[in-house]
Amino acid sequence: MAKHTIVLIPGDGIGPEVSNATKRVLEAAGLSVEWVELPAGATAIEQGYDNVLPERTVAAIKAHKVALKGPVTTPVGKGFKSVNVQLRQKLTLYAAIRPVRSMPGIKTRFENVDLVIVRENTEGLYSGIENEVVPGVVTSMKVASEAACMRIARYAFRYATRRHRRKITVFHKANIMKLTDGLFLKCAKQIQEEEYPNIEYEEMIIDAACMKLVQDPTRFDVMLMENLYGDLVSDMCAGLVGGLGVTPGANIGDEAAVFEAVHGSAPDIAGKNIANPLALVMSGVMMLNHIHEESIAAKVKNAYDTVLREGKSLTRDLGGTAGTNEFADALIAKLK
Ligand code: NAD
Repeated sequence: MAKHTIVLIPGDGIGPEVSNATKRVLEAAGLSVEWVELPAGATAIEQGYDNVLPERTVAAIKAHKVALKGPVTTPVGKGFKSVNVQLRQKLTLYAAIRPVRSMPGIKTRFENVDLVIVRENTEGLYSGIENEVVPGVVTSMKVASEAACMRIARYAFRYATRRHRRKITVFHKANIMKLTDGLFLKCAKQIQEEEYPNIEYEEMIIDAACMKLVQDPTRFDVMLMENLYGDLVSDMCAGLVGGLGVTPGANIGDEAAVFEAVHGSAPDIAGKNIANPLALVMSGVMMLNHIHEESIAAKVKNAYDTVLREGKSLTRDLGGTAGTNEFADALIAKLK
C-alpha cells in the first residue's frame, strides 16, 4: 500500500487529545502514513511562531494536499483573525461538508436522521470586514460573489449526484438580504436548472427552515447555505443526533482538503481525558475515503458503529464513563 503524507494539526484545548486518539485508530486500522505535525492557533504562539497560522503550516498543506486538524481557539470580540477563517480563505477550501446521521445505539428524540450540510466556506459575514463608521456605530460586511456562489452550488449538486441524494434545500434570508442571499439563491437555482435537473430543488427561509428541522429532520436531505448559516445549522443538527461528539466535517477545495470535526477546542474539558474523539475519528474516515483508502475507512466505521451499538465504552457526552483514550482503545479492539 502506498504511504500517505498527511499534515496533522493537533490544535488547541482538547485538540491534542482527540487528534492523538484519532491517529492511533487510523494507524491501527492499517493506514500507512507519515504525519507532518505542525501547529496552528494558540499552540503555534506557545511554540515560538510569530503567527497563529504559521506560513510553514499553510505551505505543508499546499504541498501534501491533505490535512487532519484538531480545533483551535479563537478569542471572542478581540485579538487575531480566526485561524479557521484564514486557513479556509488561504487554501480556498470553499466547501464545508458536514454529514449528520443518527448513530447506532445513541438514543435521541429522532431516528433515521441522515442529513448533509454543504456550507459556503469563504465569504458571507465570515469575511470579517468590519468598520467603525463613527464612534458607537460599527458595521460588518456580508460578501457574496457570483463566482463563489456558483462554485459552491455546483459542488453541492455534484456531491448530491455522486452520493445518490434526492434533494437539495437552500436555506436563505433573501427576503431581507435581497442582494447577497438573492445572488446565492439565483446561482443555486441556475445550476440546478441547467446542470442537475434530476435533483429535487427547494428554497426555504432559514428561520422557518430551522423550525421544520427540529420538528422533523427526516424531511431534509442535502442542505446548502452560506457561511454563517452553515455554522449555526451545523451545531443545531449535531444536537439532533447526539451532539458535537458525533459530527464530522471536511473543508474541500480544488487544491487541498482539511478534515476536522464540527466542534471547537472545548476549553471546559481540555486536558482531562474526557473529550469524545469520535467526531475527529469520523472526520478521519471522510479523509480516508478522500484519499481512496475506502477499505480502511469501512473498517474504522464498522468499529465505531459496533462500539456505539454495544454501548459499553461510551464517553461522558454520550452517557458513558470512558475517557478519550479508553474509547480509542475500544475502537482499536473492534478493528477487523
Ligand atoms: P465547543 O464546540 O468547543 O464546545 C461546546 C460544548 O460542547 C462544550 O460544552 C464542550 O465541552 C462540548 N464539546 C465540544 N466538543 C466535544 C467533544 N469532542 N467531546 C465532548 N464534549 C465536547 O464550542 P465553544 O465552547 O463555543 O468554543 C470553544 C473554542 O473553540 C472557541 O475559541 C471557538 O472559537 C473555537 N472553535 C473552533 C472550531 C474549529 O477549530 N474548527 C470550531 C468551533 C469553535
